[in-house]
Amino acid sequence: CGIVGVTGKDNAVQILVDGLQKLEYRGYDSAGIYVNDQKGDDFLVKTTGRIAELRKKITPDVHGSTGIGHTRWATHGGVTVDNAHPHFSNDDRFYLVHNGVIENFQELKDTYLKDVPFKSQTDTEVVVQLVDKFAVEDHLDAKSALVKTLSLLKGSSYAFLMMDREQPDTMFVAKQKSPLLIGVGDGFNVVCSDAFAMLRETHEFLELMDGEVVTITPNSVDIQDADGNAVSRDPFHVDMDP
Ligand code: GLU
Repeated sequence: CGIVGVTGKDNAVQILVDGLQKLEYRGYDSAGIYVNDQKGDDFLVKTTGRIAELRKKITPDVHGSTGIGHTRWATHGGVTVDNAHPHFSNDDRFYLVHNGVIENFQELKDTYLKDVPFKSQTDTEVVVQLVDKFAVEDHLDAKSALVKTLSLLKGSSYAFLMMDREQPDTMFVAKQKSPLLIGVGDGFNVVCSDAFAMLRETHEFLELMDGEVVTITPNSVDIQDADGNAVSRDPFHVDMDP
């Protein structure tokens, strides 16, 4: 189980898949990526099995400069392509990868999403459908809809990485009891569960604390704490070869 993300790189697909390959040691049963090219084209590719299978499914037309990737270790829902991440909202607007467990997902589904058709059996899909619901019904932007959703996740562990088609160069990050790092670049930024996955791109990483929510574009990393206050933090240097 692992997460990677990148924004501001024309070869996002390659960076994501190579990054996922570096995370293979963590164990997984499925994998997937979502990429957006900022010009209206986006692509979702998911598979069960190995990263080698994912590579086979990535046809030459799949391209983008911002994207997210995931290796899944199934906890809720069988090992199927539909249950592989990224998960997405029914209007194809939000895309989300998740490591961890949403303890109260059934309760959230029953309370807020009774009429929403689900495409998977995962705990994760509830989160992306909730973000979409709050964005549409409460007129919230992506970050506010994510923050509202997080406030409902009781006793859960998660690392989330999310994209919104309406802000296609932006990634949204949240974490609670699951590891996630931001890798800082010049004109690009990356996200990873383990620095090892992104050492080819950068050696400068920002640690995240539980409860923080981060908004990342090619030229900015904005961290906000659980109370909504801006956090400034210096990156640390990872002195290790890729
Ligand atoms: N609970 C999620 C699922 O079963 C995420 C598992 C993981 O950490 O890979 O899809």
